[in-house]
Amino acid sequence: MKRLVNPSVTREVVDRFRFQFKKQLGQNFLIDANILGKIVEAADLSKADGALEIGPGIGTLTQALAEQAGIVVAVEKDDRLIPILSETLREYPNVTVYHADVLEADLHRLFAERFDGRKVSVVANLPYYVTTPIVMKLLEERLPLHAIVVMVQKEVAERMAAVPGGKDYGALTIAVQYYTEPEVVCRVPKTAFLPQPNVESIVIKLKLRDQPAVPVQDERLFFRLVRAGFAQRRKTILNNLQHSFSPAGGKEVIIRMLERVGIEPTRRGETLSLQEFARLADEFARLS
Ligand code: SAM
Repeated sequence: MKRLVNPSVTREVVDRFRFQFKKQLGQNFLIDANILGKIVEAADLSKADGALEIGPGIGTLTQALAEQAGIVVAVEKDDRLIPILSETLREYPNVTVYHADVLEADLHRLFAERFDGRKVSVVANLPYYVTTPIVMKLLEERLPLHAIVVMVQKEVAERMAAVPGGKDYGALTIAVQYYTEPEVVCRVPKTAFLPQPNVESIVIKLKLRDQPAVPVQDERLFFRLVRAGFAQRRKTILNNLQHSFSPAGGKEVIIRMLERVGIEPTRRGETLSLQEFARLADEFARLS
């Protein structure tokens, strides 16, 4: 099979199948061999490894993954792409295409049935309209993943890799950095896709940690507190917590908790580090 990443090959496949791109499914296909090479290199796969791809499109990245990894599973939502993938990937017996919405798929079962205990990484050029739910699903389901190498909208990558204090730092930053170590792989111009999207992109690698970045007694409470801390970005941490938790003893209870863990009640949530949120969550857990 010819390299699908080649723009004229992509156009030929799209035309032959009379495929019409659906914007609402985030369909922008990669046509830049240099960027494809960087994604595959960052994934660092060997024949002993597995790769899970979300949204294979016409199979451009899938083809490159099939040559590096032992097993590739690609989950595609759009039924119109399934016959195309059967043709473009027919020379790759190590690829299985699943027709499913990844947000509804039972990924634990898929891992057990398909990957045979191999080291697995997610490698994908994600549909941008569902990037955050997909990444949150991969993290929260605690799948046995080695890394997540994904193309995302530039602004989303900046939120994932943000440091406390800026406008990009928020609940997504904390969730991503709690479970993984993010590293920007490369910036990607609009011209790398057919059709061109309206936004710039970044390839980011999220390396799964063996243990979460900070120990917390009650993870659910920790994430509830993080969400509360960023609920209204212009408000202080005290006001946001008061609003979300409304403890029986009123504001005073929260002020005392904040003071006990060394956090000024007038600070905003976006200035709190992961460690500070963790200390605060443990203080809440102690009292509840
Ligand atoms: N991997 C291809 C490439 O790099 O050229 C296509 C990437 S395109 C940005 C995103 C792909 O995700 C499309 O094929 C789209 O149909 C698919 N997709 C959109 N929503 C999905 C979902 N919820 N589950 C699985 N695939 C989805």
